[in-house]
Amino acid sequence: MSTAPVIDTTEPRAEGVHWDLTPLATTTEDATTRLEAVIKRAKAFEKRYRGAMETIGAGELAGAMAELAEIHNEVGRLASYSGLRESTDVANEENRDLAATVDRQMVELGNALRFFDLEWLELDDAKANELANAPELARDRHHLLSARRFAPYTLEENEERMLAERAPAAVSAWQSLFEQVTSTLETPFDAGDGEEPHTISRLLAHVRDPNRDLRKRALDTLYEALEPHTSVLAHCYDSLVGDRLAMDRLRGHEEPMAPTHLRNELDDEVVQGMMSAVERHYGLAHRWFRAKAGLLSLDKLELHDQYAPIGESRSVDFAEARGLINASFGRFSPEVSAVAEGFFAERRIDAEPRAGKRGGAFCASVAQDASPFMLMNFTDRMDDVMTLAHELGHGMHFTFSAQQQTAHSFHTGIAMAEVPSTFAELLTFDHLMATEDDQQTRRSLLAERVEGSFATVFRQTVLSRYEQRAYAARSEGTTLTDDRLSAIWFEENEKYYGDAVDMTDRYRMGWSYIPHFISTRFYTYAYVFAHLVTLALYAQYRAQGEAFVPKYLEFLSAGGSATPQELLLPLGVDLSSPQVWDPGFEEMDRMIALAEAG
Ligand SMILES: [Zn+2]
Repeated sequence: MSTAPVIDTTEPRAEGVHWDLTPLATTTEDATTRLEAVIKRAKAFEKRYRGAMETIGAGELAGAMAELAEIHNEVGRLASYSGLRESTDVANEENRDLAATVDRQMVELGNALRFFDLEWLELDDAKANELANAPELARDRHHLLSARRFAPYTLEENEERMLAERAPAAVSAWQSLFEQVTSTLETPFDAGDGEEPHTISRLLAHVRDPNRDLRKRALDTLYEALEPHTSVLAHCYDSLVGDRLAMDRLRGHEEPMAPTHLRNELDDEVVQGMMSAVERHYGLAHRWFRAKAGLLSLDKLELHDQYAPIGESRSVDFAEARGLINASFGRFSPEVSAVAEGFFAERRIDAEPRAGKRGGAFCASVAQDASPFMLMNFTDRMDDVMTLAHELGHGMHFTFSAQQQTAHSFHTGIAMAEVPSTFAELLTFDHLMATEDDQQTRRSLLAERVEGSFATVFRQTVLSRYEQRAYAARSEGTTLTDDRLSAIWFEENEKYYGDAVDMTDRYRMGWSYIPHFISTRFYTYAYVFAHLVTLALYAQYRAQGEAFVPKYLEFLSAGGSATPQELLLPLGVDLSSPQVWDPGFEEMDRMIALAEAG
């Protein structure tokens, strides 16, 4: 990568750290003209290849795949240009118009290209295997063969088209009703500077406040505000679950988790084994909750104490954060820190919080032949350094994978996507623990690491169990009312918190505002999977040292060119072994012991 000029700004809050999108497109006009051109190209592709699959040879298929890759890459660059522009200035009219144009063109693109995937699925197995195994198609082999796993569950082109046309009213309408209710919900709340309207997320932010009374009042107020809406929110969920179960019947899925497993390329046995292993380790959580009560001088934690801060981190400006990332990644591999440095040097980070910019953080892969970009809202906190590490971890994955994979195989599935980001956080955490002198910062980092693991591994398992029971009840003909959902929710949470945390009765409604249940079923177990896999990988790194690094870089470069099992095996993580999750829990145990020491 290029040698980076050191950013000389020592201004707080990442002032002026905006990205430069010109490598993607130069102006709105440039983007729209090129969009039209690429749609034309997609239509020409359709004209040329529709109906060709049955008699296609390996060479011709390789040519078609290369053409398709170029189309996807160009669309990726243009859609990212629009999406990234909008994310830093959401209200801007020109940005919104461009986004609407992109949405329209994406539908057209989908309509033009849909035939290709469907014709590929319609080929008989012998012919498809022969083509996919031809040397010309070696780099797309996994993509081609794994796409066919959906074949038994895919309907005729016309039926698929009808379902797609009907989805906005049958599916998205419930999702947007949920979104409207939860995002517009506002309730007056006094956090200390007088009463102000609070949204759900603003109320939830107070659960990390050092003031116990404030934490308690914020949660009580949240549940009180949700109460009048729970029957509508339950109805949205009930309708979506009912629709998904109907789709399962039409497509021939036998079990509500099956479509998710299929998409994640994971066997049901692996996932069930993982969830049971997590539940066997709830004792680790109870141990920490009791220790935390002691650190906070409380007899016992109540639900609103769960995320109470331990210690207080010192502040970190953006220039220091850059240095910390560089050192953390550099300790692991200079190649990795060079990739991260490229984001800073080539202005592919937008870090300054400002009006009109969206919240949170993400890394956009953009396209296989372009470089990724990342967005965050840097506020001089140690937490922001971890966010930076996380998103750059995604960036590393995209960059290494793009160097060796085609546009079709450079993305991994959901299950593996969070592995490099979590790994990058662990690298940064280890570096900070080795170098940070400030005791309060160390305590805070440790507690946050432990609780971050809990929020991912334990809590997301609770969420998956809750979903399993909701789908089971619905498929037996039971309507998912708010009371029924509350009862399931409370029982599943009781298993996790045990007698180490007191839950208030109001927490029964905790299910009601969680967006994952509404957007994608059983999405949450992928977080558990990625986190435990990463902890297991990190244990390998600890054990193998230097020898692990080239294997890990190979893994990043492999992108989505193989199944999770195939990708992880060379790194010493065997998903078919029942013991595969043990090192993850040992890492958690080790971390809790450090944090307990305060
Ligand atoms: Zn992530």
